[in-house]
Amino acid sequence: MDRVRNYERLSGLLRPFIEGGRHGQKLAEVLEMLGQFTDDCFEWFDDGFSSGRLARSEMFPPEYVFDQINDIAQNDITMIQRVSITDGMPPELLRIVQFSEFWGRAVLGAAERAGWLQGRSMIFCYFDDDIQTRTAPYAHSCMISIPYAALWNPLHFLTISHEIGHFVHDHGRVDGVGIDEILGDAFQLLPAEMVVWAEEAFCDAFSMSVSGPMSAIQFQELMRSDPDIEPNRIGGFIGWASDNGQHIPSVMRPLAWAKMMALRGDAFAVEVFDRWLEIVDGRGGWPEFISSISNGNCIDIPVTEYTTLSLGLDMEKPLDVMLEYMVRFTDELSIPDMWLPYIESSETLADLELAYAEYVEGALSDFAPPDYAGAELTTKTFDELLPGWVDDGVLQDSEWLEVLHAGGWTKSRQHSERRKTKMALTTEEMQQIVAMVVAQPPALGMQPPALGMQPPALGMQPPYISKKPASAGLDPARLARIVAQAVAEVFD
Ligand SMILES: [Zn+2]
Repeated sequence: MDRVRNYERLSGLLRPFIEGGRHGQKLAEVLEMLGQFTDDCFEWFDDGFSSGRLARSEMFPPEYVFDQINDIAQNDITMIQRVSITDGMPPELLRIVQFSEFWGRAVLGAAERAGWLQGRSMIFCYFDDDIQTRTAPYAHSCMISIPYAALWNPLHFLTISHEIGHFVHDHGRVDGVGIDEILGDAFQLLPAEMVVWAEEAFCDAFSMSVSGPMSAIQFQELMRSDPDIEPNRIGGFIGWASDNGQHIPSVMRPLAWAKMMALRGDAFAVEVFDRWLEIVDGRGGWPEFISSISNGNCIDIPVTEYTTLSLGLDMEKPLDVMLEYMVRFTDELSIPDMWLPYIESSETLADLELAYAEYVEGALSDFAPPDYAGAELTTKTFDELLPGWVDDGVLQDSEWLEVLHAGGWTKSRQHSERRKTKMALTTEEMQQIVAMVVAQPPALGMQPPALGMQPPALGMQPPYISKKPASAGLDPARLARIVAQAVAEVFD
């Protein structure tokens, strides 16, 4: 088989450009590691299909697999390139990028001091309109976007702390066990829709323990702009009172922060809680239900089934159980010295906001960019990620897709489970979808989702919500969401 390794060609073209910048040598190393990792992934599939060890799939032929590998590698190359172009930015912007890297290093230091991370990991930052992070399995490095909003509002630097939480989650180990595994085991008994919140809840707890109370304020501002009702790509609803299958629903998330602060004995917990109450009241008060998509069905769950609408914890409530665990887990982390003074000198939240803004203003004019000369980036190889994922014998497509979508590229088994529920379709379902798309292309854009689904009215029980457990077989609502997702991805 002669497969086109476009990632290799792209990497070769960009290398001279990348090598010239301030992180040139280290980014070139990351590029090299990415290349090695992608090669190994490529070979594993190429050999597997040639030898018959990987069962052929009509839906996912080798061409699909190799295109996917190219795409995933190119996504990482794009991140590397975005970091590189910051070198050519005007000094005011470059300084923001370097300050963010300095900030990120300080936050990461807390995890290193706790012994959770080996060696000295690298943080690379770049500008974006979105908040995101990429922690690659093949290098101890993390590429984090800085929201443009940070140019005008220093609160938004604090998003970096949460994003670094993802890096710590993916690469961190406590007593030799991966943090992702620890969390995966810890929440087995919680309701299924909550298990997928664990990573994000960990990142929130991490961010709070290393950045202090200001991160709670930044967070409220972020959640405040979350829309009430907005159809998402899979035809469900993201927003205030909906579960997006990843985060604690927006309306509850700042509540969760305030509860964690109270549990840590943070002096600002009450003010932070009251601040959020005011915002919630301004938007009509607490919703009655959280909408959650479970096994393709949308179900509504009373908010008070998850948690109490107060600062205290009730250990009968599953969200409170998760929060208590997260606080214990992150309790030993320390706040970097650099922002201890402004926290300690503030009595009220208003003082704190002022002191924080002054701190950032001062720090922006005088900070030392981190020096990564001795950083050791080596981490797992592709093969090291395989054990536990594959058995001997012929692997069926559902098994090797798991390797493609998760083992090699994404961060953890847990993450892969999440993807799998989105991706794993039976051949019969796939055929129905194809037939349906051919018969009636779904509308694009901000249309209400197809097939009788209505936008939810908060506090009411809309007709699409089913209290019944998901049934076996193809549910029309699920089909509609899958089609919407497939179409959205094609046009994204
Ligand atoms: Zn996150």
